[in-house]
Amino acid sequence: MISVVGIGPGSLDLLTERARARISSADIIMGNVRYIELIKDVIPASAEVVIGRMGTEVERAKKAVELGQYKDVVLVSGGDAGIYGMAGLAIEVAADSGTKLEIVPGITAASSSAALLGAPISNDFAVVSLSDLLVPWSEIERKLEGLAKMDIAVVVYNPKSKNRTVQLENTHGIFMQFRDRKTIVGIVRNAEREGCEIEITTLEDLPAFYHRIDMSTTIIIGCSGTKNLGARMVTRRGYETKYDYETGKNGNADDIAAGGYVEAGNRVWELSKAIVRDIVSKYPGSLSDTEKRVAGRVVFANADPSFLDLLVFKHHPVEKGIQCIKEGKTIVTDIEMVKAGISKKYRKKVDCFVNAPKSMEIAKREGLTRTAAGIRLAKEKGLIQGNVVVIGNAPSACQEICALAVEEGDAGVKPALIVATPVGFVNAAEMKEKILSMGNIPCIVIRGPRGGTPSAVAIINAIIEIACQ
Ligand code: SAH
Repeated sequence: MISVVGIGPGSLDLLTERARARISSADIIMGNVRYIELIKDVIPASAEVVIGRMGTEVERAKKAVELGQYKDVVLVSGGDAGIYGMAGLAIEVAADSGTKLEIVPGITAASSSAALLGAPISNDFAVVSLSDLLVPWSEIERKLEGLAKMDIAVVVYNPKSKNRTVQLENTHGIFMQFRDRKTIVGIVRNAEREGCEIEITTLEDLPAFYHRIDMSTTIIIGCSGTKNLGARMVTRRGYETKYDYETGKNGNADDIAAGGYVEAGNRVWELSKAIVRDIVSKYPGSLSDTEKRVAGRVVFANADPSFLDLLVFKHHPVEKGIQCIKEGKTIVTDIEMVKAGISKKYRKKVDCFVNAPKSMEIAKREGLTRTAAGIRLAKEKGLIQGNVVVIGNAPSACQEICALAVEEGDAGVKPALIVATPVGFVNAAEMKEKILSMGNIPCIVIRGPRGGTPSAVAIINAIIEIACQ
């Protein structure tokens, strides 16, 4: 008889009673040196111990099947023998041999590591091994991409060994692409063994821990529902949306509901972001990473990937925009609605003069539209030169900006960055081409008649978000 026994993570009080019984009554115990060492106090003196090396698993399984015909053989695996362990191989080798075989489950690294971290896998989760010794890396990478796009916790086994280091770096890159960089990540090394280390960090800070990650380490990448609560990693299951923790009752109180909406809202937001990142990552154009983030926001705001074909980034406008925001430069908008949409954290620095009495005067006197007059007034106040202009609605505001820039030749008034997304069938496309053809002013433009306030706001808010990170 063969028993394929999972011995748990290491500590003997986490060995199941059944596993202990099988080991205690075994004639022969087979396993690699590390596992034999962990259970040495349970191994009876009468048992023969056969130590196997890594890479000799097939040989060991065959030997076990042969001996199992007339002896009680225990094949040990760490954790659970059926999870990246010997169980599957033993069944394959034993098939048709007539040898009796049983699998004894154990506590797997995902469970023991999760318990040390808190409760990070208390909602749906997935498990993936980064070992490409038996599985081609391309296949693992494909799975990682699929998992990264899903808003569930992911437990990573076999993250890194002496010879396999890029796999973890690639995995990190994939998750950074599809998940929020602040996602909570737990790292457990030597769970329930000597030298146990537990860390809770974020996705973006994971590389700082690479030097402490090895083949005895399990990493748990959280999802949008995962929090760091008092140094414990917890993935919320949704109780918080249904129950009042104070009373324990299934409450309908508005505040619980509101909390639930916030949580549900976060999930929707995370999922949307992952979908958009996926769309943008597949776009064949050559956008920089920051341009991709800005483009993603436009796709998101319009729920329309076709904007990727219309967006033009000229003269490194995102970098320029980030610099402007960091330096606290003014943003001038063509209409109030664009101003109102700009991130609260920067709105104090946003001006719009479309409704200023002086703009009315200029408009009448010069025969301009009110939005164009608003831009002219901003120029008179010295707010265009070297600042950011965001035009989300009015083609005439684009025209005015072009006129100001060329007014006095090289001495013309030039913004540091123009975001131009006016919308409409009259003049919008033409005026945006004019902005694009204008000297070397950094600009972000949505070509053609489409665009509007949501796109303008999406672009400038993405830039503010990157600058404030
Ligand atoms: N059958 C085992 C897994 C074997 S794969 C189980 O169910 O746990 C080996 C990987 O498991 C390691 O690279 C590591 O990622 C994880 N692992 C196993 N024991 C661990 C421990 N004590 N602490 C942390 N991770 C462990």
